[in-house]
Amino acid sequence: MKILIDQKGRKYIFNNEDMHTKDGVIKKEDVEKCEIGNTVKTHLGIEYTVISPNVSDIMQKAKRGPQAITLKDAALIAGFANLHSGSKVVNAGTGSGILDIFLAYVVEPEKVISYEIREDFAKIAKKNFEKFGIKNVEIKMKNIYEGIDEENLDAIILDLPEPWRVVPFATEKLKIGGTLISFSPSIEQSKKFHDALNANFLQETFECILRNWDMKAVRPCSRMIAHTGFITVARLISKKKETKEKNKMEISPEV
Ligand code: SAH
Repeated sequence: MKILIDQKGRKYIFNNEDMHTKDGVIKKEDVEKCEIGNTVKTHLGIEYTVISPNVSDIMQKAKRGPQAITLKDAALIAGFANLHSGSKVVNAGTGSGILDIFLAYVVEPEKVISYEIREDFAKIAKKNFEKFGIKNVEIKMKNIYEGIDEENLDAIILDLPEPWRVVPFATEKLKIGGTLISFSPSIEQSKKFHDALNANFLQETFECILRNWDMKAVRPCSRMIAHTGFITVARLISKKKETKEKNKMEISPEV
């Protein structure tokens, strides 16, 4: 797959057809012949650079149904879940498959198992996987509140309305040392999820506020995405402990 970058740094996906840009038409054959890193010209002589998309380009350009996860949150989730090539991960719900795409890059050649209840969203996700050549995601049409089929998991990742309902299955299906992570837009959801965790989990909740800088003006950009969601990371450290509130272990940020 190729993407084209215009003189202002804007990116356009090449869909194997002539491209009608604001700078003129770019012929399909010219892009096909063009090697990565080289430039093609529109019929008005304006140059576009051809490169391969990276995972952030794909996440930006994928079609969206429900609210999708952003790169900053996906990257933190993968980091805190200790994901790497070969990790076994269940993700729910699939939505447009944006988080799945990021996870698929990280755990390859292992496949991501992604639970979804809505056919219409699963369809959008499948189209995104096809379009961007993502082969290692399996969508399972199943309500994750009713259970998880997979065993011995390194991570379970949740982006759905009632994550606390998955906690009882997580203890059983995660490896010791594995991680249950929930992403929620509202702190009330995070609090309920937190309250459902027991002393078997070592846990922390945070949000990531990413602020870009305008390096010409040498100051922060005026606009930003102020809020996406809260992330709760819960690492399973034992399967035995009692589930009393007072036994809970929380990680405090180091000072
Ligand atoms: N993380 C996704 C967006 C998820 S939106 C992305 O980056 O694209 C939340 C999704 O969870 C919706 O598609 C919704 O249909 C699905 N969902 C809600 N409850 C569910 C359940 N009990 N089991 C599986 N999927 C569920």
